Amino acid sequence: MAQRSCPACNAPDPGVLEAGLWECRYCGNRWNDPRPVCPSCGTVNELGTEVCVECGEPLTMLSRVFQRHTKQDTPLWLRQSRRRATDVKALAEEGSVGRMAALNEIDRVREQAQAEEHIKRKVRDRRLLTASLALFIVLVCLGVAAVIIASAK
Ligand SMILES: [Zn+2]
Ligand SMILES: [Zn+2]
Repeated sequence: MAQRSCPACNAPDPGVLEAGLWECRYCGNRWNDPRPVCPSCGTVNELGTEVCVECGEPLTMLSRVFQRHTKQDTPLWLRQSRRRATDVKALAEEGSVGRMAALNEIDRVREQAQAEEHIKRKVRDRRLLTASLALFIVLVCLGVAAVIIASAK
């Protein structure tokens, strides 16, 4: 993976003015590049990458939040030594698998809640239908009784 450098003079380590807008420290050239740059190792990652392919540093809010949740109890020195390990890609993969599992779990819970809500609504509808049907029958019976009583007199 390439480190970012100025496309005009090829100077390394340009400054970022705002998200996606860059400025060369040497020649003042400005250019747009929305690809995320790893804050830890400076690697330019492809758009949509959530974890740095080089060192496993989270690049998006989502993965940052996720990593904070899962790695809260991991001491900083361990994280840093792990980051330097050779199988960082495996670690990054592990991270995305874990995130996928977390997202799947969220989906599953949501679907379950929706299914339960659906069943509840069905039961409610059925109760309402039964109640109105019972009321209707009672009214018909009363009507018939009234007609019978009226004609009997
Ligand atoms: Zn330049
Ligand atoms: Zn990195």
